[in-house]
Amino acid sequence: MARIFNFSAGPAALPQSVLEQAQAEMLDFQGTGMSVMEMSHRGKEFVAIAAQAEADFRELLGVSDDYHVLFLQGGATTQFAGVPLNLTSTGDTVDFVDTGAWSVKAIKEAGKYCNVNVAASSKASNYDTIPAVGAWQISPDARYLHICSNETIGGVQFQEFPELGVPLVADMSSDFLSRPVNVDQFAVIYGGAQKNLGPAGLTVVAVRKELCGNARVETPTALDYAVQAEADSMSNTPPTYVWYLIGLVFAWLKAQGGLAGINELNQRKAAKLYAAIDNSNFYHSPVDRSVRSLMNVPFTMPDASLDAQFVAQADACGLSGLKGHRSVGGMRASLYNAVPEAAVDALVELMNEFEHEHG
Ligand SMILES: *Cc1c(COP(=O)(O)O)cnc(C)c1O
Repeated sequence: MARIFNFSAGPAALPQSVLEQAQAEMLDFQGTGMSVMEMSHRGKEFVAIAAQAEADFRELLGVSDDYHVLFLQGGATTQFAGVPLNLTSTGDTVDFVDTGAWSVKAIKEAGKYCNVNVAASSKASNYDTIPAVGAWQISPDARYLHICSNETIGGVQFQEFPELGVPLVADMSSDFLSRPVNVDQFAVIYGGAQKNLGPAGLTVVAVRKELCGNARVETPTALDYAVQAEADSMSNTPPTYVWYLIGLVFAWLKAQGGLAGINELNQRKAAKLYAAIDNSNFYHSPVDRSVRSLMNVPFTMPDASLDAQFVAQADACGLSGLKGHRSVGGMRASLYNAVPEAAVDALVELMNEFEHEHG
């Protein structure tokens, strides 16, 4: 059996040791005689798995007791509605910074519930940068300011977070647990699991407790933060097996030295790839250097008709998932936590060979 190097933007690579542990525990989880996916979510085994995952998430990210940590369904996309449903009333205004495709989707969804003010946008430059904080047009009465910490398609990432005196909400789907973050700066952090945390099927939400309890009456029960907090995120049946796998990934992350340790590795991986791009006259990064993402690295070649050949050659040598998003073109390498440094080394080697043949 050959495992390939997987650069997919999501669902994405998982640590091999996590998959092996899941495999070993598949038929008989710790002497219970059944798989985790066959257990009641109310039983003591699963309740312990769930609680340990929450405790490890809190420890890894440094989430204090001032926050609820919720494990919800529906992906980050559902939180595009969940946040306004929980944090606003009809007629309220919310601010957004538009840094790319995921910001646009979040803005569109919030617009069903609130007046959305786009405080700043980098659309005019095809989302190759993040507008300077000083130029953001913040509303005086916004309930919150929403940002996307890492734009998965464009490959731009906030390097630091603004402190503007308005509750800050961040979609961290594609850089969750990839670097240390000062959670206290945020009112809400949320992210889908399938980039950095595990398989698809769960969204982790950290929300300030004081902001919960005022959801709109029409809020679906399963999306009501206060209800889910009271029910330990089990107001209905949660995706138990995904929760278990995420827990295994959290334990793996702790063994990598937590977020400081994984950030060091992520910095090193991204630095190698950006160096390969910058040191060539063949490859090009469309992104402003000051906001380049450590997680998603788009790059192009002088002749776009070579793209398909590059991707095919990469596939042939076991490097998968490199086709770029159509809105950016070229290639995109996603370097999430579980992508090993050896994958980046192999990609850089291929890039050098390909440039030698076609440059
Ligand atoms: C993938 C992604 C989403 C959407 O996640 P779903 O789980 O598919 O809803 C939202 N925001 C960002 C930044 C993403 O990368």
